[in-house]
Amino acid sequence: MSIVDPHFIVISEGALSKVDDFLEDYKQPIFVTDDILYAAYREIVEDFMGGEVTWLLVSEYEKGKFSKASGKDIILGFGGGRSIDTAKLLARDTSLDWISVPTAASHDGIASDVASVSHNGYRYSEKCKSPIGVIADLSIIEKAPPKLRLAGIGDIVCKASSLGEWRLAHARNDEPFDQRVYSLVKSALESVLQDERLDTLVRAEIDSGRAMTIFGSSRPCSGTEHAISHAMDRGTTELHGLQVAFAMPFCLHYLEEAGYSDYKAENMRQFLVDHAMPASLDDIGISADQFLDYVNHALDIMNRRNRYSVLQHQGADDTQILKTLKVLKYL
Ligand SMILES: [Zn+2]
Repeated sequence: MSIVDPHFIVISEGALSKVDDFLEDYKQPIFVTDDILYAAYREIVEDFMGGEVTWLLVSEYEKGKFSKASGKDIILGFGGGRSIDTAKLLARDTSLDWISVPTAASHDGIASDVASVSHNGYRYSEKCKSPIGVIADLSIIEKAPPKLRLAGIGDIVCKASSLGEWRLAHARNDEPFDQRVYSLVKSALESVLQDERLDTLVRAEIDSGRAMTIFGSSRPCSGTEHAISHAMDRGTTELHGLQVAFAMPFCLHYLEEAGYSDYKAENMRQFLVDHAMPASLDDIGISADQFLDYVNHALDIMNRRNRYSVLQHQGADDTQILKTLKVLKYL
């Protein structure tokens, strides 16, 4: 496996208390976080750092106020999705290195080199760079709302369809493939299906992020189930990980038909139900017509990215899609 950042990964209870040790080579850190975490953790972090530190709030960055970063030598992204994404963007803007300090385990971007950016109601990915390190303090992450952890599980279990579709796209459409990267993501998926400990989930998320960095694109971790979720972003406000998990059994159904799935759609649907994750159109608050619309839009997204979709492969039309929705109890 090629050597890529992050080159240090700490996943433990109380890891944050040692943050100072990881910053020995730096004199001027800047912490990026959101308003809520700033209020909750500023004193604790400054205590561990042995004095006041510079903070940049996500809201300040979004207003274009990031002059606070000048003269700094390392960025720490402290928080969930938006704080980590902002740290990535700031690292790209300033060419500084950054360290990921996740406070929730809600998605596989905690150690990836891609930031999710919102524009006109759509979310799209911007290439940044990987963190040089990850400091995951389990005693902080376990205090995050349970729904965030569930979303994190969703973003990992949906690899059941992204991996199958990647194999299909390689075999039938000659898309690039890397067996080592495939195995890395597959192990991450299997680890979370077998054991739901928080450290297992965090490790799986870091490995998925590394896999995308090594491969140079999100393809291993993001297939049609992600495209459907991106289409849904216009109309729903559910967490990313829950949306991709919601769309996964639907995609798996077609992958099973095509002979490219190691997992049964029905079993994965049951996994969602057992974990009280949204598994029906009602759960996620959309109509069948909206779903058909999202699927169409998802196919456009896949097309634009030159990614082969299992729906295209199986030639699924609206009538068949509605039938599948009934079979899998989405309807
Ligand atoms: Zn994802």
